[in-house]
Amino acid sequence: MLYIGCHLSVSKGFAAMGKAALSIGANTFQFFSRNPRGTKARPLDTADMSRLDSLLKENRFGPLVIHAPYILNACSKDPGVRELAARVILEDLERLEHLPGNYYNFHPGSHGGQGTAEGIRQIADMLNQILRPEQKTIVLLETMAGHGTEVGGRFEELSEIIDQVELKDKIGVCLDTCHVFAAGYDIAAQLDTVLEGFDAIIGLEKLKAVHLNDSVHPLGSRKDRHANIGEGELGKSGITGIINHPKLRGLPFNLETHHELPGYKAEIAMLRELYQD
Ligand code: FE
Ligand code: FE
Ligand code: ZN
Repeated sequence: MLYIGCHLSVSKGFAAMGKAALSIGANTFQFFSRNPRGTKARPLDTADMSRLDSLLKENRFGPLVIHAPYILNACSKDPGVRELAARVILEDLERLEHLPGNYYNFHPGSHGGQGTAEGIRQIADMLNQILRPEQKTIVLLETMAGHGTEVGGRFEELSEIIDQVELKDKIGVCLDTCHVFAAGYDIAAQLDTVLEGFDAIIGLEKLKAVHLNDSVHPLGSRKDRHANIGEGELGKSGITGIINHPKLRGLPFNLETHHELPGYKAEIAMLRELYQD
Protein backbone atom coordinates (compact mmCIF):
# COMPACT_ATOMS: atom_id res chain seq x y z
CA MET A 1 0.00 0.00 0.00
CA LEU A 2 1.41 3.39 -0.98
CA TYR A 3 0.32 6.18 1.33
CA ILE A 4 1.04 9.26 -0.68
CA GLY A 5 -0.05 12.84 -0.19
CA CYS A 6 1.26 16.34 0.11
CA HIS A 7 1.34 19.43 2.20
CA LEU A 8 -2.11 21.07 2.25
CA SER A 9 -3.41 24.35 3.59
CA VAL A 10 -5.70 24.18 6.61
CA SER A 11 -7.16 27.61 5.81
CA LYS A 12 -10.59 26.24 4.83
CA GLY A 13 -10.77 23.86 7.78
CA PHE A 14 -10.07 20.22 8.56
CA ALA A 15 -12.85 18.40 6.71
CA ALA A 16 -12.25 20.61 3.65
CA MET A 17 -8.63 19.50 3.70
CA GLY A 18 -9.70 15.85 3.72
CA LYS A 19 -11.90 16.50 0.67
CA ALA A 20 -9.07 18.30 -1.10
CA ALA A 21 -6.83 15.30 -0.41
CA LEU A 22 -9.41 12.94 -1.91
CA SER A 23 -9.76 15.17 -4.97
CA ILE A 24 -6.04 14.80 -5.78
CA GLY A 25 -5.79 11.06 -5.15
CA ALA A 26 -3.99 11.39 -1.81
CA ASN A 27 -4.45 8.94 1.06
CA THR A 28 -2.38 10.87 3.59
CA PHE A 29 -1.40 14.52 3.88
CA GLN A 30 0.42 17.06 5.98
CA PHE A 31 -0.58 20.48 7.22
CA PHE A 32 0.76 23.18 9.52
CA SER A 33 -0.65 23.18 13.03
CA ARG A 34 -0.80 26.99 12.86
CA ASN A 35 0.72 29.91 10.96
CA PRO A 36 4.09 28.44 9.91
CA ARG A 37 5.95 31.71 10.27
CA GLY A 38 4.28 32.70 13.50
CA THR A 39 2.45 31.00 16.29
CA LYS A 40 -1.11 32.20 15.78
CA ALA A 41 -3.54 29.28 15.96
CA ARG A 42 -6.99 28.80 14.44
CA PRO A 43 -9.92 28.68 16.85
CA LEU A 44 -10.37 25.09 18.04
CA ASP A 45 -13.18 23.42 16.08
CA THR A 46 -13.57 19.89 17.43
CA ALA A 47 -16.66 19.16 15.27
CA ASP A 48 -14.66 19.90 12.14
CA MET A 49 -11.81 17.74 13.42
CA SER A 50 -14.11 14.80 14.03
CA ARG A 51 -15.60 15.21 10.54
CA LEU A 52 -12.09 14.85 9.18
CA ASP A 53 -11.46 11.88 11.47
CA SER A 54 -14.50 10.08 9.98
CA LEU A 55 -13.48 10.93 6.43
CA LEU A 56 -10.00 9.51 7.04
CA LYS A 57 -11.39 6.26 8.43
CA GLU A 58 -14.00 5.84 5.69
CA ASN A 59 -11.36 6.30 3.02
CA ARG A 60 -8.62 4.25 4.74
CA PHE A 61 -6.09 7.03 4.93
CA GLY A 62 -2.65 6.43 6.37
CA PRO A 63 -1.60 8.56 9.33
CA LEU A 64 -1.39 12.31 8.77
CA VAL A 65 1.57 14.49 9.63
CA ILE A 66 0.90 17.76 11.42
CA HIS A 67 3.86 20.11 11.07
CA ALA A 68 4.85 22.56 13.81
CA PRO A 69 5.57 26.16 12.79
CA TYR A 70 9.15 26.28 11.61
CA ILE A 71 10.04 29.41 13.52
CA LEU A 72 10.05 27.38 16.76
CA ASN A 73 13.46 26.68 18.23
CA ALA A 74 13.61 24.31 21.18
CA CYS A 75 17.37 24.82 21.53
CA SER A 76 17.62 28.59 21.17
CA LYS A 77 20.13 30.44 23.31
CA ASP A 78 17.19 32.58 24.45
CA PRO A 79 15.19 30.84 27.20
CA GLY A 80 12.08 32.80 26.16
CA VAL A 81 12.27 31.32 22.65
CA ARG A 82 12.68 27.83 24.11
CA GLU A 83 9.67 28.35 26.37
CA LEU A 84 7.58 29.51 23.41
CA ALA A 85 8.44 26.28 21.54
CA ALA A 86 7.41 24.19 24.54
CA ARG A 87 4.16 26.12 24.98
CA VAL A 88 3.17 25.96 21.29
CA ILE A 89 4.00 22.26 20.91
CA LEU A 90 2.16 21.34 24.12
CA GLU A 91 -0.92 23.25 22.99
CA ASP A 92 -0.77 21.68 19.51
CA LEU A 93 -0.56 18.20 21.06
CA GLU A 94 -3.53 18.92 23.31
CA ARG A 95 -5.55 19.96 20.27
CA LEU A 96 -4.47 16.88 18.35
CA GLU A 97 -6.12 14.64 20.92
CA HIS A 98 -9.25 15.47 18.90
CA LEU A 99 -7.58 13.91 15.85
CA PRO A 100 -5.98 10.88 17.45
CA GLY A 101 -3.46 8.49 15.94
CA ASN A 102 -1.49 10.89 13.75
CA TYR A 103 2.02 12.30 13.82
CA TYR A 104 3.30 15.70 14.92
CA ASN A 105 6.54 16.73 13.22
CA PHE A 106 8.95 19.46 14.27
CA HIS A 107 12.41 20.72 13.34
CA PRO A 108 14.70 19.96 16.29
CA GLY A 109 16.19 23.46 16.19
CA SER A 110 19.42 25.45 15.87
CA HIS A 111 21.70 25.65 18.88
CA GLY A 112 23.07 29.05 17.84
CA GLY A 113 26.60 28.42 19.08
CA GLN A 114 25.74 26.65 22.34
CA GLY A 115 27.10 23.42 20.88
CA THR A 116 25.35 20.33 19.59
CA ALA A 117 25.42 18.49 22.93
CA GLU A 118 23.71 21.38 24.72
CA GLY A 119 21.18 21.74 21.89
CA ILE A 120 20.34 18.06 22.13
CA ARG A 121 19.94 18.35 25.90
CA GLN A 122 17.55 21.30 25.56
CA ILE A 123 15.43 19.57 22.90
CA ALA A 124 15.15 16.42 25.00
CA ASP A 125 14.41 18.52 28.07
CA MET A 126 11.49 20.18 26.28
CA LEU A 127 10.14 16.82 25.14
CA ASN A 128 10.39 15.48 28.68
CA GLN A 129 8.36 18.45 29.88
CA ILE A 130 5.52 18.07 27.40
CA LEU A 131 5.12 14.41 26.43
CA ARG A 132 2.37 12.54 28.27
CA PRO A 133 2.00 8.75 28.59
CA GLU A 134 -1.66 8.92 27.55
CA GLN A 135 -1.26 11.09 24.44
CA LYS A 136 -2.43 9.62 21.13
CA THR A 137 0.04 11.47 18.92
CA ILE A 138 3.61 10.41 18.25
CA VAL A 139 6.00 13.35 17.96
CA LEU A 140 8.51 13.17 15.10
CA LEU A 141 11.93 14.77 14.86
CA GLU A 142 12.58 15.80 11.27
CA THR A 143 15.95 14.97 9.71
CA MET A 144 17.61 18.27 8.80
CA ALA A 145 20.06 19.37 6.11
CA GLY A 146 22.56 20.38 8.82
CA HIS A 147 22.81 24.01 7.77
CA GLY A 148 24.64 26.31 10.22
CA THR A 149 24.05 25.23 13.81
CA GLU A 150 21.02 23.09 12.98
CA VAL A 151 20.64 19.99 15.15
CA GLY A 152 19.41 16.83 13.42
CA GLY A 153 21.58 16.71 10.30
CA ARG A 154 23.26 13.54 11.57
CA PHE A 155 21.41 10.38 12.54
CA GLU A 156 23.58 10.29 15.68
CA GLU A 157 22.11 13.60 16.85
CA LEU A 158 18.53 12.36 16.50
CA SER A 159 19.50 9.16 18.28
CA GLU A 160 20.97 11.13 21.19
CA ILE A 161 17.79 13.18 21.53
CA ILE A 162 15.70 9.99 21.63
CA ASP A 163 18.12 8.46 24.15
CA GLN A 164 17.46 11.36 26.51
CA VAL A 165 13.67 11.26 26.12
CA GLU A 166 11.85 9.35 28.83
CA LEU A 167 8.66 8.43 26.95
CA LYS A 168 10.36 6.76 24.00
CA ASP A 169 7.16 5.29 22.56
CA LYS A 170 5.90 8.86 21.97
CA ILE A 171 8.85 9.84 19.80
CA GLY A 172 9.87 8.96 16.25
CA VAL A 173 11.59 10.34 13.18
CA CYS A 174 10.37 11.84 9.90
CA LEU A 175 12.92 11.42 7.12
CA ASP A 176 12.99 14.32 4.68
CA THR A 177 14.58 13.01 1.47
CA CYS A 178 15.85 16.43 0.39
CA HIS A 179 17.31 17.18 3.81
CA VAL A 180 19.14 13.86 4.32
CA PHE A 181 20.59 14.06 0.82
CA ALA A 182 21.78 17.61 1.44
CA ALA A 183 23.18 16.41 4.77
CA GLY A 184 25.36 13.93 2.87
CA TYR A 185 23.38 10.67 2.94
CA ASP A 186 23.28 9.30 -0.59
CA ILE A 187 19.74 7.97 -0.75
CA ALA A 188 19.88 8.01 -4.56
CA ALA A 189 22.86 5.68 -5.10
CA GLN A 190 23.28 4.06 -1.65
CA LEU A 191 19.80 3.76 -0.16
CA ASP A 192 20.41 0.30 1.35
CA THR A 193 23.54 1.53 3.11
CA VAL A 194 21.85 4.69 4.39
CA LEU A 195 18.92 2.71 5.79
CA GLU A 196 21.29 0.19 7.40
CA GLY A 197 23.01 3.13 9.05
CA PHE A 198 19.69 4.56 10.18
CA ASP A 199 18.76 1.19 11.62
CA ALA A 200 22.06 0.78 13.47
CA ILE A 201 22.05 4.32 14.88
CA ILE A 202 18.37 5.14 15.48
CA GLY A 203 16.44 1.96 14.70
CA LEU A 204 14.13 1.69 11.69
CA GLU A 205 11.17 1.10 14.03
CA LYS A 206 11.47 4.80 14.89
CA LEU A 207 11.02 5.86 11.27
CA LYS A 208 7.34 6.82 11.02
CA ALA A 209 7.01 9.14 8.02
CA VAL A 210 8.80 10.47 4.95
CA HIS A 211 8.85 13.94 3.39
CA LEU A 212 9.26 13.11 -0.27
CA ASN A 213 11.16 15.88 -2.02
CA ASP A 214 13.77 16.07 -4.70
CA SER A 215 16.78 18.27 -3.95
CA VAL A 216 17.94 21.34 -5.87
CA HIS A 217 21.42 21.12 -4.33
CA PRO A 218 23.86 18.20 -4.53
CA LEU A 219 24.81 15.55 -2.00
CA GLY A 220 26.34 17.03 1.13
CA SER A 221 25.59 20.65 0.16
CA ARG A 222 23.80 21.21 3.52
CA LYS A 223 21.40 23.44 1.61
CA ASP A 224 17.70 22.83 2.05
CA ARG A 225 15.92 23.56 -1.21
CA HIS A 226 13.21 21.22 -2.38
CA ALA A 227 12.83 20.40 -6.06
CA ASN A 228 9.79 18.89 -7.70
CA ILE A 229 9.93 15.12 -8.12
CA GLY A 230 12.33 14.17 -10.92
CA GLU A 231 13.62 17.73 -11.33
CA GLY A 232 16.46 17.59 -8.81
CA GLU A 233 19.57 15.69 -7.83
CA LEU A 234 17.69 12.58 -6.67
CA GLY A 235 15.93 12.27 -10.00
CA LYS A 236 13.01 10.08 -10.87
CA SER A 237 15.11 6.94 -10.39
CA GLY A 238 16.22 7.96 -6.90
CA ILE A 239 12.64 8.70 -5.89
CA THR A 240 11.41 5.44 -7.43
CA GLY A 241 13.95 3.53 -5.34
CA ILE A 242 12.75 5.29 -2.20
CA ILE A 243 9.00 4.71 -2.54
CA ASN A 244 9.60 1.07 -3.47
CA HIS A 245 12.21 0.19 -0.84
CA PRO A 246 10.99 -2.79 1.21
CA LYS A 247 12.03 -1.12 4.48
CA LEU A 248 10.00 2.01 3.71
CA ARG A 249 6.80 0.27 2.65
CA GLY A 250 3.66 1.37 4.45
CA LEU A 251 5.04 4.70 5.66
CA PRO A 252 3.14 7.90 4.82
CA PHE A 253 5.02 9.82 2.08
CA ASN A 254 4.23 13.51 1.87
CA LEU A 255 5.34 15.81 -0.91
CA GLU A 256 6.64 19.25 0.04
CA THR A 257 7.27 20.25 -3.53
CA HIS A 258 6.21 23.46 -5.23
CA HIS A 259 2.69 22.97 -6.50
CA GLU A 260 -0.92 24.00 -6.20
CA LEU A 261 -3.51 21.20 -6.07
CA PRO A 262 -3.45 20.30 -9.81
CA GLY A 263 0.35 19.98 -9.76
CA TYR A 264 0.23 17.80 -6.67
CA LYS A 265 -2.47 15.67 -8.27
CA ALA A 266 -0.21 15.04 -11.26
CA GLU A 267 2.81 14.31 -9.06
CA ILE A 268 0.81 11.85 -6.92
CA ALA A 269 -0.49 10.10 -10.05
CA MET A 270 3.07 9.82 -11.37
CA LEU A 271 4.29 8.32 -8.08
CA ARG A 272 1.43 5.80 -8.07
CA GLU A 273 2.63 4.78 -11.55
CA LEU A 274 6.19 4.38 -10.28
CA TYR A 275 5.09 2.29 -7.32
CA GLN A 276 5.26 -1.48 -7.75
CA ASP A 277 2.51 -3.27 -5.83
FE1 FE B 1 9.87 20.47 7.87
FE1 FE C 1 10.39 18.46 5.39
ZN1 ZN D 1 13.11 21.46 3.73
